[in-house]
Amino acid sequence: MVEDKVVQQTLFHIPTDAKVMNELRSLPKLDLHRHITGSIDAETAVKIAAKYNVELPTYVASELHDLIYGPGKVSTLRQYFEPWDILNRLFVSPEAVRDIIMEIARRGVVEDNVIYAELRTSPRGFLGHSSFGFEEFLKAASISAEESERTYGVIIRYILGIPRHVFGKIPSRNRNKMFARLLDMIEPFYPRYFVGVDLNGEEEGTKDERFQVFFRMASDRGFNITVHAGEVGPASHIWYAVDQLRAQRIGHGLRAVEDVRLLRTLAERNCALEICPSSNKLLGLVSGIEALPLKSFQEYGVPFVICTDNPARCRTSLSTELFKITKSFGLSLSEIKEIAFSSLKYSFADAQTKKTLRSRIEEYCRLRDSFH
Ligand SMILES: [Zn+2]
Repeated sequence: MVEDKVVQQTLFHIPTDAKVMNELRSLPKLDLHRHITGSIDAETAVKIAAKYNVELPTYVASELHDLIYGPGKVSTLRQYFEPWDILNRLFVSPEAVRDIIMEIARRGVVEDNVIYAELRTSPRGFLGHSSFGFEEFLKAASISAEESERTYGVIIRYILGIPRHVFGKIPSRNRNKMFARLLDMIEPFYPRYFVGVDLNGEEEGTKDERFQVFFRMASDRGFNITVHAGEVGPASHIWYAVDQLRAQRIGHGLRAVEDVRLLRTLAERNCALEICPSSNKLLGLVSGIEALPLKSFQEYGVPFVICTDNPARCRTSLSTELFKITKSFGLSLSEIKEIAFSSLKYSFADAQTKKTLRSRIEEYCRLRDSFH
């Protein structure tokens, strides 16, 4: 009889999937790895294209969705980025940039209760392949961050991503001059809007030595640094990122698991891995979410945060990513909350912004405790 009661009580305390998802959705969350282009869903694309007279293969959102995001699995990075050919057409003017960012804030961030997002952006317009320049882009991005905070209470910061495959092809003398110019241009926006720099794109075929000058200059000027490494490429790329490019965080970094010495080094340096479960699954880097090496990271004390990468591309949200991790690794609600809140510690936000975010999380926890 006593045993029955214990069993009943235990069952009563196991949260249902609905309860877990509800908790995760209501949680104030931070997303530290989210690309602007990969956050544009079909509804947003149609809305922007119609407003700015941009040519699309269809103006029916459901058809566009099937066309660009349809296949649930891709086999190459090239295939993964195919929708970008269409989505990049939307950035026709600074006004369109503002509308895109505000839509991302409203749909992808506010609706999922993400209170802070570090959006990755490329140096759009910098190489002259655009009807407006990079300075105009920077202004539009900053205005949208202000507007998003004022309208939705969502804090948006940007990370400038250097695409390996674009800048890697430029002769070194010109490239290094461009890097200095890029940093000059974003410096006035640091740390209010631009909080860091990143290296992204194809890991294979481009030597990361070509970017050392950029990251040393950025670090000397006080910018925070994260590098996409060890996603498709080997552990040696992560070594290079932390030792030579001065990375404080690593985008993905899954393949760190192949090198115990690297795991120990990441733990010692408190270098967090930005784990994006659905993105890794879509690319076929892991057979399933449960195959992510999170247990090894925990065992060696390597910090990690959960992010979305390209939520529209991967048809996900931050709540969904946290839910998948909770279910795949059998975590309790308090364990997943601890992981979710740890993003605050590893964010590149300045001290004042972190203080604001911390008080919002504490307020949530206080209200929740008093409610239960
Ligand atoms: Zn990414």
